[in-house]
Amino acid sequence: MTRPPGRLVLLGHPVGHSLSPAFQNAALRCAGVPLEYVALDVAPADLAGTLLALRGARAAGNVTIPHKVAVLRACTEVTPVAARAGAVNTFWTRDDGALAGDNTDVAGFAAAVRDLLGRAPDRGQVAVLGCGGAAAAVLVAAESWQGGALRLWSRRAEAAHELAARFRVVAHPHESMAAAITGAALVINATPIGMSGDALPCPLEWLDPGAAVLDLVYRRGETAFVRAARARGHIAADGLTMLLEQGALAFERWFGVAPDRAAMRASVA
Ligand code: NAP
Repeated sequence: MTRPPGRLVLLGHPVGHSLSPAFQNAALRCAGVPLEYVALDVAPADLAGTLLALRGARAAGNVTIPHKVAVLRACTEVTPVAARAGAVNTFWTRDDGALAGDNTDVAGFAAAVRDLLGRAPDRGQVAVLGCGGAAAAVLVAAESWQGGALRLWSRRAEAAHELAARFRVVAHPHESMAAAITGAALVINATPIGMSGDALPCPLEWLDPGAAVLDLVYRRGETAFVRAARARGHIAADGLTMLLEQGALAFERWFGVAPDRAAMRASVA
């Protein structure tokens, strides 16, 4: 059993854009926990020293770009899901002072898919654009889906081949974005395109008429990809549900109880 954390932080670089402090602090207030969740902008060179200080304060928290792999390596113990994803997005300090890590992006993504489609899709009908850490979380979730292999596309072909090699059974690299998207029933944007500005990760004409769109990127007012896809009749959602769910599951890891998910969502509505 681990005692409740002494501090709660988000580690990233940059972190200014993050919605996590808003909804985690809403959850903390609802639960009557007298802690403030604080975003810490930590340069990669300062990460090791920061983690040492946080362990001394019995801290817990979340991790975002670019520290998820480095924090995995700094943890003494990680869950099988974090090990499979190769990344930690949620950590806590055990009573013996060691760092433990999990990856709640995987279950957060699975919840976003259920929310959008009402079911798990057939793997072979899913296209994933981008082959970084978020795409790896998608593939871990897809290991519990049925049928075929997800179509992976990356602007660097070797990145798609490397990721597919880690997930041989469930993923297949595609050299052409058009080939990956054509015939897909679900198109997932796992690139950062759309975080700022209105660029789209793919031409909308390439989407099948019945395709659903899940953009892992989120921003206030939704992303241009989601708005444009919906305007053409596709069902579409941005990364907000995934973000809120990974945060809610992190809260459960830290405190052993479920947070008020409605309050978390309302705080960023
Ligand atoms: P990452 O590890 O840096 O990977 C990004 C991927 O996108 C890489 O394959 C990268 O290719 C590709 N990419 C970057 N810019 C591109 C461009 N202009 N055109 C085409 N491909 C491009 O990042 P990540 O952790 O996977 O995160 C990706 C996005 O998912 C981020 O925007 C993040 O906000 C979002 N995300 C959301 C949630 C959520 O809870 N909703 C959780 C995690 C991540 P190269 O390797 O060639 O650079």
